[in-house]
Amino acid sequence: MLSFIYDILPSRVVFGVGCLDHLPAEIGRLGATKALVLSTPEQRETALDVANRLGKHAVGLFDRAIMHVPIEVAQAARDEAHRLGADCCVAVGGGSTTGLGKAIALTSSLPILAIPTTYAGSEMTPIWGITEGGRKTTGRDPRVLPKTVLYEPALTVTMPAQLSATSGMNAMAHCVEALYAKDANPIISMLAEDAIRAFARSLPVVVKNPADLEARAEAQYGAWLGGVSLGAVGMALHHKLCHTLGGSFNLPHAETHTIVLPHATAYNARAAPEAMSRIARALGVASAAQGLFNLAASLGAPVALRAIGLKETDLDRAAEIASQNPYYNPRPVTRDGIRALLQDAFEGRRPAA
Ligand code: NAD
Repeated sequence: MLSFIYDILPSRVVFGVGCLDHLPAEIGRLGATKALVLSTPEQRETALDVANRLGKHAVGLFDRAIMHVPIEVAQAARDEAHRLGADCCVAVGGGSTTGLGKAIALTSSLPILAIPTTYAGSEMTPIWGITEGGRKTTGRDPRVLPKTVLYEPALTVTMPAQLSATSGMNAMAHCVEALYAKDANPIISMLAEDAIRAFARSLPVVVKNPADLEARAEAQYGAWLGGVSLGAVGMALHHKLCHTLGGSFNLPHAETHTIVLPHATAYNARAAPEAMSRIARALGVASAAQGLFNLAASLGAPVALRAIGLKETDLDRAAEIASQNPYYNPRPVTRDGIRALLQDAFEGRRPAA
């Protein structure tokens, strides 16, 4: 019998090629006049362009965002926002830059306008993360959810083919786990399935021709829905495993998601048949897990943990950590089950079914 709770987060989305032209009006809509623009060092030029569009309403550019938001960087950015009297942050970049904006908002409540340039989806979630002494702490707080998001597909054409592939698979992971979430609901499931379909169609084109704006727009549409799914319902085994591997073994975020996803899907296949048939339908294949593996391989993305720096001797400890602290998963999480999954992911084996 149908029974669910539907609790969607507020957000304003301005989507499409040319949408950056709306930036000054969107900042005005937030009631802000002093924006601090954030980026990674690599994306400084893009951030400068954004600052120029804001003219006198951009009071500074902080270009030191890096992966996993180290507390020292968060503190430096908070100090800079305070020193400049900023009344909003404009985060231009991927999950690392959005994450820095969230760290500022967490202590100051400054509104964030996000301009995402990868498919990670952080701009749609109230989830923050800060790393201190090598340990990443995460939490949920409505203050860190960006108020406005501008999805400009033209900003994603510079994403290298490999990052496009792995970032897209990262977004698909949000959708896969949303479909078998403990608190799944029919609306988010519809969004998640459509996002998988959008990525399955667009990623092969994007990887072949990174400048194809139509495919870029479709992938970014998928990224938006992936982010909505991540923000709206709880994740399970796959996200827990990737958090463990990223946090304890310092593995790269999007690549780790790409490699683990087919195996986490295979692990849950029998326990979540409805989700599996929706994933397979969206991919246009018979088996969800194999379809995800084949898609990643066809995009030239890494498919083995050994290829991104994990050592075989780390697998026991990874299985140990990932099976501690019980959490929801459609199939019960056992240490032996996780150890076998990790071996498959380490070797890069195609899931058996
Ligand atoms: P990222 O933000 O670390 O970016 C990776 C690299 O790609 C950076 O050097 C960046 O400058 C560059 N880059 C980004 N967009 C580019 C573009 N269009 N063209 C050229 N270069 C570009 O990578 P990510 O995968 O987007 O984010 C990963 C981080 O986000 C992780 O720390 C992860 O934990 C976090 N995350 C958080 C949430 C959340 O809800 N809180 C969701 C997803 C990811």
